[in-house]
Amino acid sequence: MHIPELKAILIQEIPRIFQTHITDVSSQDKKFQTFFDQHLHWMKPVITGSLGGMIEASFMSHEEYLIFLDQLKEQNRIVGSTFLLQVPELSPNDVLELNQNLYFHLISTCVRVTEMEKVYTELKSQIIERLYITFSTSDHSFLQGYLQLKDKQVFDLHQQKLSLVGQMAAGMAHEIRNPLTSIKGFIQLIMEQLRSERLDKDDLNFYLSICEEQMNSLDSVVSNFLSLVRNKSGRSSAEWYTLTSVLERIQVLAQFYALEKSVSFTIHIPEYEVKLFGSPSDLEQISLNIIRNAMDAVSAGGHGKVHLEVSHQAGERTIKFVFIDNGQGMSPSVLAKVWNPFFTTKESGTGLGLAICRQLTEEMGGTLEIQSLEGKGTEVTLTFPIEAKDLT
Ligand code: ADP
Ligand code: MG
Repeated sequence: MHIPELKAILIQEIPRIFQTHITDVSSQDKKFQTFFDQHLHWMKPVITGSLGGMIEASFMSHEEYLIFLDQLKEQNRIVGSTFLLQVPELSPNDVLELNQNLYFHLISTCVRVTEMEKVYTELKSQIIERLYITFSTSDHSFLQGYLQLKDKQVFDLHQQKLSLVGQMAAGMAHEIRNPLTSIKGFIQLIMEQLRSERLDKDDLNFYLSICEEQMNSLDSVVSNFLSLVRNKSGRSSAEWYTLTSVLERIQVLAQFYALEKSVSFTIHIPEYEVKLFGSPSDLEQISLNIIRNAMDAVSAGGHGKVHLEVSHQAGERTIKFVFIDNGQGMSPSVLAKVWNPFFTTKESGTGLGLAICRQLTEEMGGTLEIQSLEGKGTEVTLTFPIEAKDLT
């Protein structure tokens, strides 16, 4: 028997080997049956093609065979690093199991054919030995590729984690800077007072009390941030408080920011006093975040105006805060993303302001809505319920 004839006989056997392999694994495991039902159309040419290549390789010269193995290694490494992403229903173990089964059917066929055709022992053992090496090499490089993929995934995950940590740290810094800026400003005012001839104790007291408030707010900013990260509520203790007391503080701080940014800030406070249950510092934080955003949006324009309209009608069960600015507004695509933590269009922004606002508002049982027209301005509406019995 001549080598070309033997090779031809073996090649002719390929469709049968493939069919036996599919029937065999499908009957062993339902998972494989479903897999081949779905993927047979492209698996068939791939598998039969590579069987052909393996048989050819068993008859090559030693040098040719080494080149073949090198190519096989590279191919299988790529398959290992991409296959499982494309075919997520199979595990690497499944792939090895399939390969093992295919090897078994190929070897059985080779043994049967070589015995039938009375192939001389040397050639017979070369074929069997080569097929063994070919299959082991393909398994080995497949696994190598797979491990490289896993390594890369672990590395990417680690990078993502690091960048998230960086973003979070930046977010913390941003949230801490607001109260720090106002503490610094009021300390300057206090120092000016102390240097002046006319010392107003009431003013001094007021400035100091704001500094103290801001330090408390620093403290709650840190716990708020942690609870945003942990998505856990119950940080600030709830209490009864009057709306005007919070609004007055918001007004003073907003005026202060407005001065800094050279924009105008106006506020309309309802005539009715309302008592609210919750944390006054949460309401303050939400409002100041929204006001700072509004001021960021208008300051670029020049004639910037930010207005806060607080409205409550007697007997109504909700209170409404509408923050209006005539700033740059937002495009629909920006508007769609503003709630995402870390979404920002500002160079030094963190994109955490609105995410924190939303979380705090929802915890108060309220809603937060934004309407915006690019080039015209933005209206942020904060509504939250108050019980009828809360009214005085
Ligand atoms: P940051 O202020 O750090 O950017 P925010 O969560 O507070 O993060 O806001 C996210 C983004 O929403 C801003 O970067 C800005 O593009 C947009 N935005 C928020 N408020 C306004 C507003 N009043 N006018 C225009 N754009 C706004
Ligand atoms: Mg902001």
